Amino acid sequence: MNEDIRVAALRAAIRDVPDFPRPGIVFKDITPLLADPALLRSSIDVLCEGAMAHRPQRVVAIESRGFIFGSLVADRLGVGFAPVRKPGKLPHRSVRISYALEYGEDALEIHEDAVRAGERVLVVDDVLATGGTARATADLVRRVGGEVAAFAFVIELGFLGGREKLGAAEVVSVIRY
Ligand code: AMP
Repeated sequence: MNEDIRVAALRAAIRDVPDFPRPGIVFKDITPLLADPALLRSSIDVLCEGAMAHRPQRVVAIESRGFIFGSLVADRLGVGFAPVRKPGKLPHRSVRISYALEYGEDALEIHEDAVRAGERVLVVDDVLATGGTARATADLVRRVGGEVAAFAFVIELGFLGGREKLGAAEVVSVIRY
């Protein structure tokens, strides 16, 4: 199927929820896309077509909606998966990073043995907004010895300029706003 038609169908399945989780935020709800088997598969098709060229050897995805897409992408690409989680959730020895939010700060963790030395990692999440979360995840990947081959997002909120925070690695996104 033509790329534009696939992306248009995916875009039509994203539900805007105004003022969630806070006033002023328009939340991009992916659950209608997840509910439709053809659209779910199509989202993984487009993500993988974009990511494949970067020859990833592992997928690292961000809690929690990133896990949904990341694990499907890992399966499709035939590579392993490693989770990045909120502090205190991972059972084994972990590395933590703190990063600034609009108000305050947040932190993420990865297992110290999540990637092999020099491994090419694809970082996956549902939404690229300001880029802080993906940037922190990339820093974690590098701190445990991986190389960030590319980033892949289902949705990119381009007007927030997150892509500019992600350095030289390629950014693949399916639906852009
Ligand atoms: P950021 O660090 O600003 O790029 O935010 C990215 C993270 O926040 C991702 O894990 C998203 O799931 C979530 N997020 C940010 N903005 C939105 C939004 N408008 N709709 C849905 N999720 C969002």
